[in-house]
Amino acid sequence: MKRTGHALRTLAATCLPILAALSCLLSAGAWAQEDSLAGQAPEQTPYTAPLDGRVRGQVRPELIAAGTVIDGKGNVLHNTRILLDKGRIVSVGPSLSAPPDAVVYDLSHATVLPGLIDVHVHITFNFGVTGRYNDTTETPEQRDLLYERSLWEMLMGGFTTVQSVGAPEDETLRDFVERGWIPGPRILTAREPIVGSPRVGSDDVLRAKTVLLQFEHADLVKIFASQSIRDGAGETLTLDQLRAICGEANRLGMRTLVHVYRGSVRNAALAGCTEVEHGTYATQDDLKLLAEKGTYFDPQVGLVIQNYLSHIPQFNGAGNLNAQGFEYMRQALSVNDKLFQDAIHTPGLKVVMGTDAVAGGHGRQVEEIIARIKLGQSPMDALLAATSLNAQSLRMDNEIGSIAPGLQADIVAVDGDPLTDPATLRNITFVMKGGVVYKDLISAAGSAH
Ligand SMILES: [Zn+2]
Repeated sequence: MKRTGHALRTLAATCLPILAALSCLLSAGAWAQEDSLAGQAPEQTPYTAPLDGRVRGQVRPELIAAGTVIDGKGNVLHNTRILLDKGRIVSVGPSLSAPPDAVVYDLSHATVLPGLIDVHVHITFNFGVTGRYNDTTETPEQRDLLYERSLWEMLMGGFTTVQSVGAPEDETLRDFVERGWIPGPRILTAREPIVGSPRVGSDDVLRAKTVLLQFEHADLVKIFASQSIRDGAGETLTLDQLRAICGEANRLGMRTLVHVYRGSVRNAALAGCTEVEHGTYATQDDLKLLAEKGTYFDPQVGLVIQNYLSHIPQFNGAGNLNAQGFEYMRQALSVNDKLFQDAIHTPGLKVVMGTDAVAGGHGRQVEEIIARIKLGQSPMDALLAATSLNAQSLRMDNEIGSIAPGLQADIVAVDGDPLTDPATLRNITFVMKGGVVYKDLISAAGSAH
């Protein structure tokens, strides 16, 4: 113990000045940036690469003839045509004619929706080639291909945009998808999260970490302000610490997404954070406060815990995924159902749709939508959450989340009517992202007529 204590003191003596210098440098950077931003409204993180939709080969206009369109804004249109060009929606109407060189997709027996959006996934959490989570035997090549598999599964499941919260590898995946080098949903990433702990550092260090994430091209800041639900869900960041991070992020124009349970929900709202995740054990007053502050709320009722519990042999033994952890999750199930029902009945509360999909859940994210409907949310509201409201929460509603002129041509289809039969969402039959078709089980290219 004595030796350990000595070692720690030595480490502290060596590292603290370095940390202080780093923090100081970063703060200087932050001030410099503040000067240059003086007088300007904060903007979203620079997401400089153009959104795709200009992938090679998409040079002809496209026309989708749709039986029914659920436009993502609350409208249902019948026998409608959607004209697309260069990866964007040009017009939507009943009697549009196709330009002579257009590719026509006959979806006249299908229901067409905007590409679905999931605001909370973990692309890099996979079952390895042995089928086990955290498979330490996999090669780097296998690992990289498993990431690509996750992206493919999500895209095939109807998700054309996902927000991945917590792995530096996401950045390469985001940029490769963006360039059209690998198929996948459009990705926004938090890179590495800021994780609350007793050794998390001063408020200045927290601000510096936030600035650093922007320098590293993160699209948002992910924060853990509570322990895992499998460790008891206790508070790990104080209100002041959350104020330091979310305040700094707001100043930089970055969004913040905070993993919270219990009283931390209230703290995240008071600290001006953009969105809170999970929220288990929050009170009705906490929900009212979220609504009052305009904080987006993303509870989960349909996929993440159910998926852990249905794959116990594969997860068991990885970190806190043990008997106690599974028990904590089981206890949270009914609490979360009630929380979700309270949330959708809290006036003004913006309940977004994020699944927290990990290994086993990629590509099955519609289960969250279906579960929400089972718990009493109207199918239209559940779909709005997964489309335009999610887009708004990402500050991308001018780009994605609805079927309207000017937006990205992100369009999916199902055979039936999800408003009367939500389970039809499990059978996504058509997926287009940025005007590029990745899945078409309906029209068979449609060019025969
Ligand atoms: Zn998560």
